[in-house]
Amino acid sequence: MKNIVSYLKDFRLAGIVKTYELRLSEAGEKNLSHKEFLEIILEDERANRETNRKKRMYSIAHFPYQKYMEDFDFTFQPELKKGAILNLATGSFIPKGENIVLIGQPGTGKTHLSIALGLKALSYGYTCLFTTVWDMITTLQSSRADMTYKKKIEYYTKPDLLILDELGYRSMGETTVEDFFEVVSRRYEKKSTIITSNREFTGWDKIFIDKTLTGAIVDRLIHHCHTFIIKGESYRFKNRSKEE
Ligand code: ADP
Ligand code: MG
Repeated sequence: MKNIVSYLKDFRLAGIVKTYELRLSEAGEKNLSHKEFLEIILEDERANRETNRKKRMYSIAHFPYQKYMEDFDFTFQPELKKGAILNLATGSFIPKGENIVLIGQPGTGKTHLSIALGLKALSYGYTCLFTTVWDMITTLQSSRADMTYKKKIEYYTKPDLLILDELGYRSMGETTVEDFFEVVSRRYEKKSTIITSNREFTGWDKIFIDKTLTGAIVDRLIHHCHTFIIKGESYRFKNRSKEE
């Protein structure tokens, strides 16, 4: 006859496997009923599955590092509307498929804010994917060569929240603009996208080269969009100016 632990393993009840021995002695000591014991170990299984799901969601989101809203110093960017950002941190823009565009010079906290919003989104149970624009378009380009293009487009279309960091550092070629447009138009009005850029909208035709496609991309992105232009100086200069 099989023992209980091997049954639990066969049925993939890893949460119960972890706590089974402890719970058994606890049940003995506290004189728990069969029903109480069963409820406790089922709750262990549920909690373990929830923890694993969160870890999985965090790992597939591919954040380069962790940055939190609570650590963002809004007093350093007084022109940035704190209330509006904190409102977005409730995640309410995600089911509405609204977008966020963060524009500012390097060091003004765009990546920090986008990761912080992404982590909040995960905590509400939304799926999220972080990528730089450059990584996404090079991945899409090479996927054309190995016939995984459709799958890769799906990969960028599917998450509830897609964070596209660093738009505008490098300009794109014709087919890469088409790939970018493909992702944006598939997500349009269905899924939320956060874009960070060092260039204001008026300069985006220099990134996307083709004027018609630029118009089509910008139209879709800004239709339901919260735009923030962060005018302050780089946070990297913060301590430097204090020391001076
Ligand atoms: P950007 O993406 O705009 O170039 P980052 O978000 O990478 O800037 O910010 C650069 C560094 O400064 C990061 O370590 C970030 O956490 C920090 N930082 C930027 N702005 C703030 C701020 N207002 N409060 C706290 N940390 C900030
Ligand atoms: Mg950045």
